[in-house]
Amino acid sequence: MYEDKWRRLRIWTYSSYAMFGLGIPIAFALSFPTFRGADNYFVPCWFGASVLVSSVAASFRCPRCNKPFFKPSFLAYSGWTKKCVHCGLPEWSADAPGRKRDRRSGNAS
Ligand SMILES: [Zn+2]
Repeated sequence: MYEDKWRRLRIWTYSSYAMFGLGIPIAFALSFPTFRGADNYFVPCWFGASVLVSSVAASFRCPRCNKPFFKPSFLAYSGWTKKCVHCGLPEWSADAPGRKRDRRSGNAS
């Protein structure tokens, strides 16, 4: 039921981790061996792209209530929550709570 939205969250979350994690060795490699120059073009672009991708992941909307999953209010952010701060839908839940469903049988999609 919610698989497509969770997949989108997973893609954006892992993309933000990858973007942040890969930027450091790339900046190192680009500036090797003088360790100058990468800060002129790569680091600002990398930082801006990291912020952008992280913001997309952070603004994820709950599949059930369609409110911001991680944001209880305008300036508050709860990045480590495991359930929707508005309706309580558990993160990665396959279906609405209360409906029985075997995750292992899954669907073929
Ligand atoms: Zn919700």
